[in-house]
Order: sequence, then structure tokens, then C-alpha cells
Amino acid sequence: MDRQQDFVLRTVEERDIRFIRLWFTDVAGILKSVAIAPAELESAFTEGIGFDGSAIEGLTRVVESDMLAKPDPSTFQVLPWRGERHGTARMFCDIQTPDGEPSAADPRWVLKRTLARASDQGLMFYVHPEIEFYLFENPAEPDLPLVPVDSGGYFDHVPRGTGHDFRRAAISMLESMGISVEFSHHEAGPGQNEIDLRYADALTTADNVMTFRTVVKEVALEQGLYASFMPKPMASQPGSGMHSHLSLFEGDRNAFHEPGAAMELSATGRKFIAGLLHHAAEITAITNQYVNSYKRLWGGSEAPSYICWGHNNRSALVRVPLYKPGKGNSSRVEYRAVDSAANPYLAFAVLLAAGMKGIEEGYELPDGAEDDVWELTDAERRSLGIEPLPGSLEQAVQVMERSELVAETLGEHVFDYVLRNKREEWEAYRAQVTPFELKRYLPVL
Ligand code: GLN
Ligand code: MG
Ligand code: MG
Ligand code: MG
Repeated sequence: MDRQQDFVLRTVEERDIRFIRLWFTDVAGILKSVAIAPAELESAFTEGIGFDGSAIEGLTRVVESDMLAKPDPSTFQVLPWRGERHGTARMFCDIQTPDGEPSAADPRWVLKRTLARASDQGLMFYVHPEIEFYLFENPAEPDLPLVPVDSGGYFDHVPRGTGHDFRRAAISMLESMGISVEFSHHEAGPGQNEIDLRYADALTTADNVMTFRTVVKEVALEQGLYASFMPKPMASQPGSGMHSHLSLFEGDRNAFHEPGAAMELSATGRKFIAGLLHHAAEITAITNQYVNSYKRLWGGSEAPSYICWGHNNRSALVRVPLYKPGKGNSSRVEYRAVDSAANPYLAFAVLLAAGMKGIEEGYELPDGAEDDVWELTDAERRSLGIEPLPGSLEQAVQVMERSELVAETLGEHVFDYVLRNKREEWEAYRAQVTPFELKRYLPVL
């Protein structure tokens, strides 16, 4: 037993924890959980807990279905919503094959491997996400019209608003689980909220995003509400993005910061952005993985549709936020395409890989977009060299399947699984006859 494992064993005993949930994430980004008794904990640390991986999306082929979940003791937290006595705790797990190798299908491993490549070059990757979501009055039944909890808008202070109570409850629960919240407010859509997490290394942030989704859904249920991270639940309202602020550190020096440079952005920062732009189309099936994701990207309301960057330009895919004098370590770039339903492990892995490619190959950063790129005509955008993001899941998959960068980053197993899974989703979607078509065509055709 190492020190962290010891600490977990002692805490479980002292706090009378009765169940330990082992958490991991499938390739689609859905949280999975298996509960064990405290007596199993030691062997979970040494040998792992066996489970049937073939039942889980993307995990294994049936022939090699035995998998092991190995808990990461540094992620131990008591779950506040399960009560103080006879409590429940959780740890995130790494997934291993029976011979103790990391499973090629584990998204956490995909991210760890990508982070290790950057750290070989002395670089640590940090992310802070702005997570948007909707709160609805009614449960998730597709046949009912959605009823948002309020009709507030951006930064609105809704008097006696459900949103306040909700955000306060959710944030104190997150804080009690060691997740720091920087900022929270009502977003532009009715019932839409945003909570921004403090920056942390990308692996911790990905774990935190998974915890965040669970906490937000739990608190909503407690208050008789339903929280949704669907990218675009209502056609006429803004979608829910997960803008991700990215930075690289060399020791405790922010590698994106250079005093005196334009926007105080270093050459490394510029090449990183160039990498993001160069590979943006290829990684979109990962950052925006659902049919519905493209309704957000192409539905206006400050979601990015075109591949360009800008200094504080909210119509751009990549934004360099205003530099605050004296705060060199806060230099970062904001990638705005990611949505709230992305698998955070895979999304951060492909973002890092794209940026690192820009640094390794010394990509040249094109000029920034000064204008609102939605207001330009197609011809104007073309003359500025501004390409669109994929217009649908189908297009995104077509670009991704030719991407060496994504294949290398995800590894063969996850790459093939995502392509297969997403092609199936597209096939199922395009076979639908939608209310839109009936309304538009039936009366006249
Ligand atoms: N909801 C918008 C999106 O989908 C973002 C709005 C904002 O934070 N300015 O990206
Ligand atoms: Mg924000
Ligand atoms: Mg926002
Ligand atoms: Mg933002």
C-alpha cells in the first residue's frame, strides 16, 4: 500500500464509509459505476476489480471481455448527497486488461498518454471549462414540451429564482468534493446556467467535468428539476457549450505568456493556436460528438461555426481573452466549439494533440479575425481563408476518418469504435421523417 492508498483505507474506516463507488467513463463519455464494500478495497488497489467489459460501450470485443477497474486513490471523495452516516465515497479508475496493461479503450488512458507526450517535452496542460446547461421543470420525456425553470437571460438576477438556489446548492456540493468553482451565472437561454471551474491539470479537469455532470443532475433531482447537458435542446434558444480555456506550463512558467509580445502571447502560444485551427475540422467529431451538436454549432447564439481566431472576438472558434496586466500565468486560449456533452477525456486529448502539432511543426498563425465572422459573406470569408467547421455529424466523421492526428491520439481501438458508432448514429438519424418535414411538405406536396 502506498501513502495515498493508506489514507483512503483510514478515511473509509474513520468516516464509516459503507460503499465505495468505482467510477470510470465509457468511450461515449457516459459515467459508469460499480460499488464495492470496504473489505474489497485493499484488493481493488492491488489487483483491481474485475468486470465484464463487453457490456460497456466501446470497451472491448466480446472475446476479451474481462477487464479490471483499478481505483486512483488521489481521486477519493465522499459523496455529499449520500448523507453523513454510513456514507458512500467514490474514486475514478483506470481500466486494465487481465494482464495488467492499460486498456486501449479507456478514455482516461487516452488522455494520460497524450499528456505524457507533452510532459516529455517539459509541458503540462491545464484546462478550465465553462460549462453551460439547462434546468427544466419537467422530467426527460421526449414527448413533453420542455419547460425551462425561468425566463431569465444572460447574467440576469432572477428574483427568487430557482437558478440561485440551484447554483448555490450545486456549488457547495462541488466545493465539498474538492472542485473549485470560479464563476457562475444565468446564461442567455431561459433556464440556462453556466458554472466555470477553476483551472487544473487536464486529467483532474476531465474527472471534475464527469463529477460536475453527476452533481448537477443529483442536485436538480433533489429540487424536483431536470438538468440537461444536451448541446441544443430547444431550436430557438442558445445551445450549451463547454468553452475550454487551455494553457501550457513549463514548470511554473506559463508557456503562452511573453511580456511585450502582441496580446502578451508567446510564439509557443501562437503555434498552439495555429495547430488548433489547422486540425479543428478533424477533431470536431470528438469535441461535438452528437447529431444534435451540429444544431448548436450552426444555430447562432454565439456558438462558433467558422475556423478562425480572434483577440476577444466572440464569433471566433479560438479566442485569446483580454490580457490582465500583471497576470502572466493567466495567459490562455479559449476553444469555443466543445459542447457540454463531449467526452472530456477524449476532447482534451485531441485539443492538446492539435496544439502540440502546431508547436512541433512550427505552424504559422494566420491573421486574426477582427470582424464578426457571421456577418461576412461566404465570398468575404473565403478571401480571408476562413473555412467552416463541419456542418453535420456526417461531415465531421468524414473528415475525422482521414485524420492521422486523431487516429494516433485516440489509438486504433477508440478511433475505430468512434467512427463505427457515429456512422450508426448518422444512419439512424437520416432515416427519420421529422415534424419539420411533415409541417413543411405535407400541406403542399
Ligand atoms: N451558449 C453559447 C455556446 O453555445 C455561448 C454563450 C456565451 O458564453 N457567450 O457556445
Ligand atoms: Mg462564460
Ligand atoms: Mg457562457
Ligand atoms: Mg467563454
